Amino acid sequence: MRRGLALEVAGRDVTSVAVTGARTVRRQPAVALVERLRGARLGEAGRIGKFLLVPLDDGAETLVIHLRMSGQLLLTAPGWPLAKHTHAVLGLSDGRELRFVDPRTFGELFVAAAPPGGPGAPPGRPAALAHLGPDPLSPGWSAAVLGRGLIGRTARLKLLLMDQRFVAGIGNIYSDEALFEARLRFDRPAGSLSGDEIGRLHRAVRKTLRDAVTHRGSSLRDAQYVDLFGAPGDYQNRHRVYGREGEPCTRCGGPVRRISLGGRSTFLCETCQP
Ligand SMILES: [Zn+2]
Repeated sequence: MRRGLALEVAGRDVTSVAVTGARTVRRQPAVALVERLRGARLGEAGRIGKFLLVPLDDGAETLVIHLRMSGQLLLTAPGWPLAKHTHAVLGLSDGRELRFVDPRTFGELFVAAAPPGGPGAPPGRPAALAHLGPDPLSPGWSAAVLGRGLIGRTARLKLLLMDQRFVAGIGNIYSDEALFEARLRFDRPAGSLSGDEIGRLHRAVRKTLRDAVTHRGSSLRDAQYVDLFGAPGDYQNRHRVYGREGEPCTRCGGPVRRISLGGRSTFLCETCQP
């Protein structure tokens, strides 16, 4: 999604703004967001974890977008019928519209001050996102940083990986896929990993996220995640455990199991992830 925004909307001006969703803008009055966006020039999108950051004008402020469970950003011709649950529409200077659609309304938009990232650099981190841990694809997230963070932690490994304060950007699908790649069980106490296991986990998280980006993300049967043009991703066809209960493990041929953890499903191969 970030790549799509950077390719398609960077350099466009916002010519009109309409916010109709009552929950879509909730950190500030919707009228303030509308006023700030109208006439603004959109810069090249950045990302920290699951938050998209679109710099405005000189980059001192940024439009922050979180899609949460069901949000979609769609780039359309102006005449297209509005999809149900369209909560915000930005008219762009190239005549197209950037629309925010979100049936479950957990997603949000807000404008925040951002330390400038410098010419050509992605925007800095707004104060509202200060609680987020490092993005695992950022250069600073090394195996040593991961290892230091794990010391003394008793939480189950999967839950810590999904804790956005620990590392930002990993959810239910990519934690399962990364733990399979690393050959680690989801419920290992996080502080119990050996140096070799920490190295495997670090490589696995980065490989999984990079591959997922290359294959344009995972679109499940609910088809909630689609790209700017409404097209689904392709990574779901490459999942090795997530959503594959009962199917053969790609490594050992044994069955992939599903276990309920904290009300959500965890998928693993118990042979390969002892
Ligand atoms: Zn296996």
